[in-house]
Amino acid sequence: MSNSFEALGLSSVLLQTLEELGYETPTPIQSSAIPRLLNGEDIIGQAKTGTGKTAAFTLPMLERHDNSPIYGLILTPTRELAIQVAEAVHRYGAKLGVRVLPIYGGQPYSRQIRRLEKGVHVVVGTPGRILDLMRQNALDLSTVRYLVLDEADEMLRMSFIDDVEVILAATDAHKRQTAIFSATMPEPIKRLAKKYMHNPSVVAITSDEMTVENIEQRYYIVREADKVPALCRLLEVEDLQNTVIFTRTKAGSAELAETLVARGYRAEAIHGDLPQVERERILRRFRNRNITILVATDVVARGVDIPEVSHVINFDIPQLPIEYVHRIGRTGRAGRAGTAILLISPKQRRNLRMIEQFTNKRIQRGKLPTREEVLRARNLQFRQEMLAYLSQVEHLEDDGLLEELIALGYSAETVALAAMQALRLHEDQRPLEEIRDVKEREHDTVVRMPRKGGRKRSARYERDEDGSEAGMVSLKVDVGRREDVRPADVVYGIANHGDIPGRVLGAIRILNYETFVDVPQEYAEAVLNSGRSTRIKGKQIQVQLADKRSPSRGNSRQNESQHGHKKTRKKKSQKRRLLT
Ligand code: AMP
Repeated sequence: MSNSFEALGLSSVLLQTLEELGYETPTPIQSSAIPRLLNGEDIIGQAKTGTGKTAAFTLPMLERHDNSPIYGLILTPTRELAIQVAEAVHRYGAKLGVRVLPIYGGQPYSRQIRRLEKGVHVVVGTPGRILDLMRQNALDLSTVRYLVLDEADEMLRMSFIDDVEVILAATDAHKRQTAIFSATMPEPIKRLAKKYMHNPSVVAITSDEMTVENIEQRYYIVREADKVPALCRLLEVEDLQNTVIFTRTKAGSAELAETLVARGYRAEAIHGDLPQVERERILRRFRNRNITILVATDVVARGVDIPEVSHVINFDIPQLPIEYVHRIGRTGRAGRAGTAILLISPKQRRNLRMIEQFTNKRIQRGKLPTREEVLRARNLQFRQEMLAYLSQVEHLEDDGLLEELIALGYSAETVALAAMQALRLHEDQRPLEEIRDVKEREHDTVVRMPRKGGRKRSARYERDEDGSEAGMVSLKVDVGRREDVRPADVVYGIANHGDIPGRVLGAIRILNYETFVDVPQEYAEAVLNSGRSTRIKGKQIQVQLADKRSPSRGNSRQNESQHGHKKTRKKKSQKRRLLT
């Protein structure tokens, strides 16, 4: 596997863009997919969000750019992903002047049609709206030379696969190179691949690169300015054997190592600027326990053989979730216990959630040690040092000072206490700065990960005391069995029209006249606001907050019979409840 973008065969304009974006090395999926795609091959990429898959399929597409109309088409299951991918295409293709248009439901047709008429090179969109535009003769896909299905399994789950097939059939099979990205490969996707691809090779990220099972994972939210003091508190109370601390930049690793050394830790930085012999020397010292803390960057960590450690500390959150998995894989090997600590700033909560989603595991929020806890830890450590010292010294020699002090009237005990205090004074020179609290938010305590064994989206979330899913808001939609609504229609409607990825929707309960759907709190407002433009089964729907005693919380009969009364509820007071 190649370790540089250059070696993958990308041209200089894109290389320069990647450098400016700070991408130093390709991720595994990029190393395997990019050369094949550049070579014109069809591929099936088995990789989740967070592996760098977007760049893996976008960069080779951009190498095809020759200013011709709609040469690239990327299909995504949700509006949110369409926007995200279109942004990535724009970002990577800016220097080439690539014009990209995201197309999704919920936006006026006229705007999209105008943009299409002006001319675009790449279209990224959800199948439903793309099909609509094709049917209106506003979108001609016969020019497509590079087609990507992103998150194909999600499209299948959301019942878009028939639409996808119509779109595939509308492109020219002889012209077209095709890539399918999917985390799993259910039968219908395999069938699609067989029918529409030319000898695709499978590029997969093996699952052993993703296990984090034996590792105790914690995160701490601290302001950027408080990171060093926070790290130092942790170093004082954690039972550290040997530790790797990861920083984002080389300069950062050198600076942090210096700070730690100044505070009395045996630490050294290891980064790409150091010559190989120097790196080996540092690693030897780490293995021999001459140093106990290695401050490393990802690049060097990947290239060298770092031994098993008791703790991995992510001083800077990694850009990619997969990088996080690589980092913390330095601990908890071979069934041993390991601890992984992650420091994040309040703004990085989103990145944290990406990691949780990627590893399918909840990371616990830790509380930073208080001053008292640090002082207690220092006491304990001093006690151990004293005991170790006392057990080691064979005989204690007195050069006459003790006798002199006793002659002055001090007891041996007082002298011993004073000597210990003098020693302690030296130790307590270590600063113990104030750290400002970052308030807990709901996300910090709410579990939004599927339970063990639960299906990916099937809403197997933790439940609140009142029976609703933790962190979810129950919304009511005024369509139901009467309109022949199926769960997939609800997902389609809300995901496609509201600004919300389908996979985050929770329990869906369809009654005769209405449907209840649990939506994560942070999306609830967007869904409520998008209500008027949202259609389910062709019907314009009304979305409102469900009553606390709604059927999605258990009491369906009562609610059915209450149908009609609830319309009198005041929207304003509901909204207030949502926002508090
Ligand atoms: P994706 O898996 O495509 O959703 O990418 C996840 C994140 O990783 C995005 O924010 C990308 O900007 C970032 N990313 C992708 N490739 C690299 C790379 N080689 N080095 C650093 N960051 C990357």
